[in-house]
Amino acid sequence: MPLLSDHRDGPRDECGVFGIYGPDHDVARLAYFALFALQHRGQESAGIATAARDGNIMAIRDQGLVAQVFDEHTLRSLLGDMAIGHVRYSTTGSSEWQNAQPVVRDDSRTLALAHNGNLINAVELYGELRHQEVPFASTSDSEIIAALLARHEARGIEDAVADIVPRLRGAFSTVVMTDEAVVAFRDPHGLRPLALGMIEQEDGRASYCVASESCAFDLIGARYLREVQPGEMITLTENGFRSRIIGGDQRRAFCVFEYIYFARPDSRMGGTVLQVARAKMGEILWREAPVEADVVIPVPDSGNPAARGLARAAGLPQDDGFIKNRYVARTFIQPGQELRKHGLRLKFNPLPEVVEGKRLVVVDDSIVRGNTTRQIVQMLREAGAAEIHLRISAPPIKHPCHYGIDMSTREEMIAHGRSVEEVAAELGADSLHYLSLGGVYEAIGGSRDEHCDACFSGEYPLKGTESANGKHALEAELPLVRA
Ligand code: SF4
Repeated sequence: MPLLSDHRDGPRDECGVFGIYGPDHDVARLAYFALFALQHRGQESAGIATAARDGNIMAIRDQGLVAQVFDEHTLRSLLGDMAIGHVRYSTTGSSEWQNAQPVVRDDSRTLALAHNGNLINAVELYGELRHQEVPFASTSDSEIIAALLARHEARGIEDAVADIVPRLRGAFSTVVMTDEAVVAFRDPHGLRPLALGMIEQEDGRASYCVASESCAFDLIGARYLREVQPGEMITLTENGFRSRIIGGDQRRAFCVFEYIYFARPDSRMGGTVLQVARAKMGEILWREAPVEADVVIPVPDSGNPAARGLARAAGLPQDDGFIKNRYVARTFIQPGQELRKHGLRLKFNPLPEVVEGKRLVVVDDSIVRGNTTRQIVQMLREAGAAEIHLRISAPPIKHPCHYGIDMSTREEMIAHGRSVEEVAAELGADSLHYLSLGGVYEAIGGSRDEHCDACFSGEYPLKGTESANGKHALEAELPLVRA
């Protein structure tokens, strides 16, 4: 999905992180390409920090895509034995330069930190640190984690991480780098992904790295080893890596939406390559709601894998109902209804020759507000479609995410307070079926008690989630911080 699914009106991807300890490599370049592979997880800013053992930390970060932020010259200036990197879509704090990551702090220890997720107790921790007159340069909750670690009195970074993790509530797949090591840790619920990889050298030595998704490893010639476990801290060293469980035994709650939409289809999660899981979702979607039709049309590119699975199960031909202009910049870089509308028309051109007079099964992965889907239905009607049957490979989204995904408010969600039939009527479709939650779990081969599906079910796996403040919570506190 994500690299090319920018027609959407949400949800927005969160962030992507990468870390490597590799004295034998050009670590900045590896970080650059890893971030390039993770670009779908965040397009607002990108950054890389490097460090030499017992040397300084250097960091370059800015707003924009990875390829816009870095060039040969800037990459060459980032020297060191280890590196961490980040791509960002803002989930806490607005899209400002100061909120780009890695965050660098220089308190009792100097460190750089990159974080994917969202703390639900950010305001509380922020208030506590403010009370101690800790200065902040950004309005992102990631800097709270960085400040807690940079000010911690423990001698080693690993002990500092182990000590602060019980104080953090929410989602955090994090990489932190000092002049000694790169340490990666994942929240005890395992809400957001984090994987461990290895680069083997010809002389038999190996370097280790971590990334939000395994697709980053493929691009830099690393081998996927395993997932970083929920509540696990992994320290990358010159001798390999060491692991320590720091999170206690808590209910697992991996984001089920990663399987449906966020992660790249060539990434591997929970033992499954997502492309395969998504095709299975399409098959089940057809089983749940077959319909008399002539052709299956995916909404490119996010609907492609599920459409393939559905077409296979249905024994129907699949065709491109739209041609997509791949050179249009991501529409959501400039939010706003009007711009999005124009962006969509720039991006998709329906093919009357394919759709005219046909009964279409139109497949997409999710609907949030419905604006985009409504326009797609309208375009297909104008192109002469006889019937439009929408099949969505996710259940209706009715609740906001507080764990690192930026969604609309409840009231903006088209499925909130509406029956499926009412949503179909709103969208102008002849029929609509959403994949059931049971169908999602069947497709991924997992169970509800190990995942989060709160945006569909409203059952938040962490207590007190709903009282958590929104994306700009820390900005509300900002006058105090900058006073
Ligand atoms: S609420 Fe939805 S998007 Fe957020 S972590 Fe849970 S399943 Fe994922």
